[in-house]
Amino acid sequence: MTIKAGTFAKRLYLPRILGSAAGFWAVAAVLTSYSLPVWVWVLLVFHGFIWPHVAYLLARTVRVSYHVERRNMIVESAFGGLWVAAMQFNALGCTLLMSMFCMNCIAVGGPRLLAISLPVMATGALAFTWLLGSTFLPQTSTAQVYACLPMLAVYPMAVAFAAYRLAAQLAEHKRQLKEANRMDSLTGLLNQGAWKRFLGEEFTAAQQRPLPTTLALIDIDHFKAINDVHGHLVGDDVIRLLTVTLRQRCRPTDVAGRIGGDEFGLVLRDTDGEQAEAILARLKHHMLQAFEARKDLPPMTLSIGVSEHGATMNRVEDWVMASDNALYQAKREGRNRVVLAEQVSAAQI
Ligand code: GH3
Ligand code: MG
Repeated sequence: MTIKAGTFAKRLYLPRILGSAAGFWAVAAVLTSYSLPVWVWVLLVFHGFIWPHVAYLLARTVRVSYHVERRNMIVESAFGGLWVAAMQFNALGCTLLMSMFCMNCIAVGGPRLLAISLPVMATGALAFTWLLGSTFLPQTSTAQVYACLPMLAVYPMAVAFAAYRLAAQLAEHKRQLKEANRMDSLTGLLNQGAWKRFLGEEFTAAQQRPLPTTLALIDIDHFKAINDVHGHLVGDDVIRLLTVTLRQRCRPTDVAGRIGGDEFGLVLRDTDGEQAEAILARLKHHMLQAFEARKDLPPMTLSIGVSEHGATMNRVEDWVMASDNALYQAKREGRNRVVLAEQVSAAQI
């Protein structure tokens, strides 16, 4: 798994600040009962208040912070071992520390990180038990119980908040990915697959709606020649400008998709064939104007086939075929025109 630099480190920063500070009081309350070398207290202050910032800086400066965070967790395991030994196995202090620590490990790196960190912690606990001459004193005083409360209350909430933010972020990424899967990369319109699905749903909806729905197929005339003469990049710019103009001129209820190379579909809701014919004639006019204004692009014309959804249409393919026939009629009749399907004979449909 690769997580962007900084993102992961940032996500852990606040929970770690809160957890380490709360942990300081829990451990300190136990340690005051024993006489311990100064370096133990120095390390406790470091772990409680300085370590979160060091860990954040270490993780923030690298490209993939996730791996550094795993290393940070292993350093924290060693600290954990020290506090278990220094607290002389105090029942509440050690259980609290261990459970928060395990929660952290699982949140950061799952059971695998836990499996790596626990032996480090156990080894640390044994080594510091030997170094400090610790014994087994599990009793917990009332004062120590109170000192553990901030950690008990605050830390799980901070971790839960971080987990919630991560879940919300993942849901947003999923939504964006789903959206990107539906979009044509060149135009931002519905791509072929999404258009097909949309048209199928629209056909069913049109059968139930009292108001008419019209399907237009728009095709660039002699687009192959534009590509051949001016190159594919110019051809792409032609498609882009066409799309921008289409978006600007469409009504909010109209839905457009890119069906193929130079062919586009447009569904006009609550619009009958004649109204759509007029709308598309205006649209075509605005398109040509937009192209005239762009001196860097070659002139371009469009052929458009239009058909209103009809009660005799049994399948979405019938609707597409009616618009397609109208489009081919427009091509046959000399291109650069809008043809309404009614003009196509019943035999052709
Ligand atoms: P007609 O007037 O009969 O529609 O002729 P046409 O040349 O426009 O039709 P044809 O279907 O033969 O040509 C479509 C061309 O579109 C062929 C293909 O190379 C080109 N094409 C398809 N996708 C893209 C694209 O994404 N970018 C560019 N620049 N060209 C594309
Ligand atoms: Mg074409």
